[in-house]
Amino acid sequence: MSVHRIGYGHDIHRLVEGKKLVLGGVEIDHPMGLEGHSDGDVLTHAIVDSLLGAARLGDIGENFPPSSSRYGDISSVRLLELVKIKLAKIGYQIDNIDATVVCEEPRLDEIKDLMAGVIAQELEIEPEQVSVKATASQGLGFIGEKRGVAASAVSLISEIEYEEAEEESVAQTTGYEGEYDDEPDIGIDEDE
Ligand SMILES: [Zn+2]
Repeated sequence: MSVHRIGYGHDIHRLVEGKKLVLGGVEIDHPMGLEGHSDGDVLTHAIVDSLLGAARLGDIGENFPPSSSRYGDISSVRLLELVKIKLAKIGYQIDNIDATVVCEEPRLDEIKDLMAGVIAQELEIEPEQVSVKATASQGLGFIGEKRGVAASAVSLISEIEYEEAEEESVAQTTGYEGEYDDEPDIGIDEDE
């Protein structure tokens, strides 16, 4: 049976003037953007963390240190492809992702499907496998005061199917041989 693993990611970035606002790889027309290395794409960061967590591979900072010249200015959605490769190397594929962005302004309802589509494209999975939801904070706390944006994500991954098929074929062969060898192997040498 295929092994499934679940992962959770959460991220917060400060809203500042003089930066582009990028969420889920989509550039949004807004007077403020998210502080942080590269584009501060809080949604993508939460998704990356959830995928790494599902595979028990640590967090985004450990895997893609912002101090590294390789990752410091990389567009955040490019990390999705790199995570997918990391997962594939240890035999896992992505089943589905569910994410929520908490943002007072701008309202994201009209672009949440667009963000989901970009994320799916970067991960080379179907758009139906990615859900992006958006909510506001009712004026409460730092999000309600438009000082920051938060995102959380849950991902489900599973063992890559071709490995499962190979295991099944091995199990079938072993099962067939088992009919002729029900006894434990211990002691066979002594009998002969
Ligand atoms: Zn982040």
